[in-house]
Amino acid sequence: MSELPRQHGHDASRNPLVMKLGGSSIEDAGAIRRSWRILESRLSLRPVVIVSALAGVTDQLLTAGKAAARRSADLANNIFADVHFRHAALARELVAGTEQENLLSQLNEDFNDMQILAQDLTAAGEFTPATQDHLMGLGECISSKLVCAAFQQAGLAAVHVDARSCIVTDDRHTYATPLWELTNENLRRTLVPLLQSGQVPLMAGFIGSTREGVPTTLGRGGSDFSAAIVGGALHASRVEIWTDVDGVMTTDPKVCPDARVIARMSFDEASEMACFGAKVLHPATLLPAMRENIPVHVLNARNPQGEGTQIVAHASTTNVVTAVTAKRKVAAVEIETWERMNVELLGAICAVFDQHRCPIDVMVTSLGRVSLLVGSTSPLPGVAADLEGVAKVRWENHKALICLVGENIRRQPEVASRVFAAISDLDVRLSCQGASDRTITFLVEDSKADESVQRLHRLFFPEKTAPKAKSSPVLTQTSETQPAAR
Ligand code: ADP
Ligand code: ASP
Ligand code: MG
Repeated sequence: MSELPRQHGHDASRNPLVMKLGGSSIEDAGAIRRSWRILESRLSLRPVVIVSALAGVTDQLLTAGKAAARRSADLANNIFADVHFRHAALARELVAGTEQENLLSQLNEDFNDMQILAQDLTAAGEFTPATQDHLMGLGECISSKLVCAAFQQAGLAAVHVDARSCIVTDDRHTYATPLWELTNENLRRTLVPLLQSGQVPLMAGFIGSTREGVPTTLGRGGSDFSAAIVGGALHASRVEIWTDVDGVMTTDPKVCPDARVIARMSFDEASEMACFGAKVLHPATLLPAMRENIPVHVLNARNPQGEGTQIVAHASTTNVVTAVTAKRKVAAVEIETWERMNVELLGAICAVFDQHRCPIDVMVTSLGRVSLLVGSTSPLPGVAADLEGVAKVRWENHKALICLVGENIRRQPEVASRVFAAISDLDVRLSCQGASDRTITFLVEDSKADESVQRLHRLFFPEKTAPKAKSSPVLTQTSETQPAAR
């Protein structure tokens, strides 16, 4: 097996760089050209490129699949035609000659596959998780071929690598996890020779396949995870996530336009942010990077000169609150057990959720009760039926989990009291200190999520121009010591 030497000093001349281009970084011809220039500036770092679907395409494919399954074949076909037209137009603009013809015929094949899948869906009247993975993953299949051909046309020695034959996963459709040993071995065997011969491997993010070759996906936003998986396998010098914002910010800038870039943060803090709703990173992204101690940089493809956010093992910060996040549209589930809670019972409850492919977001247990959050209520009737006789299951929909992240947040009890003073009128339904000492989380109605985040962001990140408040030590500490946030 080809093996890259382990470099502890991250010697860039030997360890590759992994660059993930998000949907907005390749959304049109201008964006693809911009990304090409970024890549060109990094050729000496031996890049491997991971690409998402073009912005908006995964959502379109999901809508088309749902439409086909409810027998709205026209809607599904219109969406496919729209996606096909966009890719073909880009192929004509960015690629010429026989390369263009080849690319167009490959795209035609993928669009035929989409139509066949849609016909099967219409016949079955059901959009199973396995079909969902197959259909949604085609977005990355077509974008990766398009971007690879465009980069080749621009003179780059890019070579397309089939992600599905490298990233082997379990069969948890829609949120699969890699079988690490097999995946690492496949990635090294495929990518190392290409790198050694001076080529630039380019592969689709988000997708993998089971040992049997059934297509899977790594969950929404999963291309970030793909980049970290490849980075981990190759002991990369660093992983770069190229997106549409200047880095990881103190909150979602779409909710609070005055959010600031966090210059440097720890893997742990970034993981908490991702798990608790910061869409800028897929929640599992940091795991392979942490394991191999590979720095992850989040950068803006529209502003490549920016320094972005550097995520590393340890980042010293004096800020009490690093960021505010919101996990939207979750359901709060209460499970009342007939007997005292114990490890076996808890294990049995978790197994039932797993059988129904219902990932659990946050869990709190007490003597005869388990409270947890899930992203979708559709598996819950089945879960409740399977737990009958063991426990009573109730749930409430349309909630949002708001989270404050900070390295030492739990050691600052004033933070929680300031938080609740700021939002107590918003009907805070449940509150729990996070399992780690880096988070404080609480639940509000989803309709109150933006307002909660805005109030808390104002509280802990007051506008730079605002006069300094002579207030509690917590606020003074957060507002005056922002060295990590630009
Ligand atoms: P990509 O297609 O590049 O993967 P995403 O849409 O998945 O991009 O992620 C980038 C988006 O994440 C940003 O446009 C921003 O609205 C959102 N976001 C949410 N929370 C944060 C945060 N704390 N910092 C930066 N961006 C955030
Ligand atoms: N295209 C996939 C999604 O929209 C994966 C990604 O963009 O990372 O979820
Ligand atoms: Mg993303």
